[in-house]
Amino acid sequence: MTLEELKASIAEIGEKPFKAGQIYSWLHKHNVDSFDEMTNISKDLRSYLEKNYYILTCSIEKKLISVYDGTVKYLFRLHDGELIESVVMKYKYGYTICVSSQVGCRMGCNFCASGIAGFIRNLSPSEILSQIYTAQKDLSVRISHIVMMGVGEPLDNYDNVIKFLKMISDENGQNIGMRNISLSTCGVVSGIYKLMEEKLQLTLSISLHAPNDEIRSKTMPVNNKWNIDTLINACKEYIKVTNRRISFEYAMINGVNDSDECAKELAKRLKGMLCHVNLIPVNSVKERKYTKSNRERILSFINILEKYGINATVRRTLGSDINASCGQLRRGEK
Ligand code: SAH
Repeated sequence: MTLEELKASIAEIGEKPFKAGQIYSWLHKHNVDSFDEMTNISKDLRSYLEKNYYILTCSIEKKLISVYDGTVKYLFRLHDGELIESVVMKYKYGYTICVSSQVGCRMGCNFCASGIAGFIRNLSPSEILSQIYTAQKDLSVRISHIVMMGVGEPLDNYDNVIKFLKMISDENGQNIGMRNISLSTCGVVSGIYKLMEEKLQLTLSISLHAPNDEIRSKTMPVNNKWNIDTLINACKEYIKVTNRRISFEYAMINGVNDSDECAKELAKRLKGMLCHVNLIPVNSVKERKYTKSNRERILSFINILEKYGINATVRRTLGSDINASCGQLRRGEK
């Protein structure tokens, strides 16, 4: 429940709004997972809450730590036994968590591990929040940045994701600024149009991965519903409405989308847009045959983009020894 919902809910038993504020703060600022810990709430109210409400938590099924860079990958078990993964990364500016938005994924990008075991269900706002709260408590650190780049397609779980964003940025809870949050989509255009109307200051990332429909449709089925022109038009509109720079993700796949020709085609498409390109040497997924482009290929690609005036960087790979990198998260490790 948002704070407003909680206020309305306890008003039904005659409780004052400030009580809701206290409860909300226990849950979302202090991340307690039992009503007993709410020490400034009367015993009577605590037992009423205990009987009529529940606190959704997730438990740590497995935890892996990268020996290369300290990245931590969690396998979380949800209340109904389903499994999801989240990753915590340490940067100079603090800790970032990569959260999942669904159990599995139905987008079917063929280089990604997240959809291999199919789609089960959406995560509730609480289940997205609890990934952050549980990791934060386990590591005894404060997480300051969030990327919605774990398992699932956030814009395919639109309402729950928006509610999560509002709650995680609420000043009565974790108060994480929208500017510290990135949301990545494989190109659900209907969702991009809805999202721009929310006028949030978050960073929108688009998983583009190809400069033309021929390559994109072969690797990303979503392109059959919304092709590149439709997607880029939505992005242009998004920039116009929000005045925020868009980040395009482009996995460099050896022999598939990494030629100089591809770089030129990509540059022409993005010319003049307020955007940034993130090149990601494709990560291995054991069920798939793709390999990453080599260093020279990536440098040549980036040089062409820069020649055309497109900002681009190569994303640093973290957690590769524990399958915690982009595209490697899944619905439980079988
Ligand atoms: N469904 C959303 C959120 C997932 S974000 C989306 O597609 O954007 C995960 C990112 O990793 C996406 O950009 C995805 O395309 C990318 N990715 C998937 N498989 C990958 C792989 N094998 N190597 C590198 N990046 C990959």
